[in-house]
Amino acid sequence: MEECIFCKIVNKEIKANVVYEDEKVMAFYDINPQAPFHVLLIPKKHISTLLDIEEDKILISEMMVKIKDIVEKIGISKSGFRTVINCGKDAGMDIFHLHIHILGGRRLSWPPG
Ligand code: AMP
Ligand code: ZN
Repeated sequence: MEECIFCKIVNKEIKANVVYEDEKVMAFYDINPQAPFHVLLIPKKHISTLLDIEEDKILISEMMVKIKDIVEKIGISKSGFRTVINCGKDAGMDIFHLHIHILGGRRLSWPPG
């Protein structure tokens, strides 16, 4: 995906503050953080949205398991955190490369806005 910002981060064409990386996934700090800790976890493979994961069940489950390593590494596993996956216009999705927001470091209100 030539014009995808997150593919460019995966390909190191755009710099990111990377927290975790392996052959399948990458996690980096959000450029516009909504909490003291705000990390985005993405698959390296371009998958557009949560509506397009059918062929990647194993990859998606591996991403879920990786969240534990990431929150432990950035130090919010004990205090708590929230994961968010926006999907489509009404959710305010801006970048159509699947990503899991991981937010923590402050009390997060509920319901979300
Ligand atoms: P969403 O609204 O769910 O599509 O979230 C996209 C997120 O990507 C937003 O929180 C942005 O702040 C973040 N973002 C956009 N460009 C970059 C970038 N170059 N590096 C890190 N985060 C980014
Ligand atoms: Zn992409």
